Amino acid sequence: MIIKPRVRGFICLTAHPAGCAAYVQEQIDYVQSKGVIGNGPRNVLVIGASTGYGLASRITASFGSGARTMGVFFERPPSGKKCATAGWYNSAAFHRAAAAKGLYARSFNGDAFSDEMKVQVVEAIREDLGQVDLVVYSLASPRRQHPRTGETHKSVLKPIGQHYTASTLDTDKGAVSEVTIGPATEQEIADTVAVMGGEDWGFWMEALDEGGVLAPGTTAVAYDYIGPEVTWPVYTNGTMGRAKIDLREAARQIDARLKENGNGGAYVSVNKALVTQASSAIPVVPLYISILYRVMKEKGNHEGTIEQIQRLFATHLYNNNEPQLDDKGLIRIDDWEMEPGIQARVKEIWPRVTSENLREITDFNNYQEEFLKLFGFGLPGVNYDQEVDQMVDLDP
Ligand code: NAD
Repeated sequence: MIIKPRVRGFICLTAHPAGCAAYVQEQIDYVQSKGVIGNGPRNVLVIGASTGYGLASRITASFGSGARTMGVFFERPPSGKKCATAGWYNSAAFHRAAAAKGLYARSFNGDAFSDEMKVQVVEAIREDLGQVDLVVYSLASPRRQHPRTGETHKSVLKPIGQHYTASTLDTDKGAVSEVTIGPATEQEIADTVAVMGGEDWGFWMEALDEGGVLAPGTTAVAYDYIGPEVTWPVYTNGTMGRAKIDLREAARQIDARLKENGNGGAYVSVNKALVTQASSAIPVVPLYISILYRVMKEKGNHEGTIEQIQRLFATHLYNNNEPQLDDKGLIRIDDWEMEPGIQARVKEIWPRVTSENLREITDFNNYQEEFLKLFGFGLPGVNYDQEVDQMVDLDP
């Protein structure tokens, strides 16, 4: 079939297999260009491994340190009439590239929140790897069916205790407008914590530990976001921020568990705001990202997911380095984003943005390019007018 982008709001309904493969290859090339990450991970489990920060983590572990990786994700495979989701094609491309280098890779497509998936993965680790020494938790999901109660929780992106009014960006139409979001109810807060908080990460670590598949000295890491004050009401001080507080608490408990097991540790890494499928759904954030990209490119310190995670591994987790933590115990690879000079410049541009000058004073053009790239569109060297077989298997 010939596959073109079909964008609806903040999602793209189609994905291009050759384009996704080219995007994965770009990330592999970047990691390889940075050289080997010394004393890196050997056996790695990435939960949420098919797109965004999780995919970048899997690529960095494999191609930076030669690690054997197991990945868990929830993606739609291709069918006779429909292409697969981007994460499926990314993972298939990752498997092919890993196989070509003789690197072990195995993936599980299904619900990471379920007990069944945990049992299956523990069993597979025991059979194939024996133990893992790095667990990356990088799920972003709008809902979770709780494995013990059967209840389905839906996450919301809302402020708490107040209305929030700010400029927002319709990324499909390229229009800036004002949005007002009402406060979350107590139930919505609890539901968001249930989906994006730390309980499931804790369940994973418990299952891995009780299954005897955590190596002494295991590192566990999950990803967090803080961002600028302008987004705090809807993010950091909102429902998602509550979920992240819960994630940090889970890290403390997991850390204690890992310390009992040897010299391991659990960390929360605060990452930079970047165009991913998850972030494009957050009100106000795409506008912030469009301004931020412009400012960071001017300064020459802009990074994407792969640059962020390569830096996390190379300067905090491995290469004989110890994680450097802030006063709250968090790793901060959002440090360049949060530099006062960068934030002052963002603050200066923010109130001036209109639909008319959006492409001129922000990096919205690149925002749209990066968004399409997530689905394999706009990659150099890919002929989008050519027929392509959508029926791509995960394993080569
Ligand atoms: P993403 O949407 O690109 O990736 C989400 C991953 O989770 C995919 O692999 C998807 O298949 C998987 N997934 C979702 N539901 C699942 C389920 N039920 N079972 C199995 N797998 C499932 O998201 P992302 O932006 O990379 O976010 C990952 C983490 O990074 C999140 O915790 C997010 O808060 C954090 N983070 C994101 C940003 C950003 O700007 N994007 C910034 C800082 C931190």
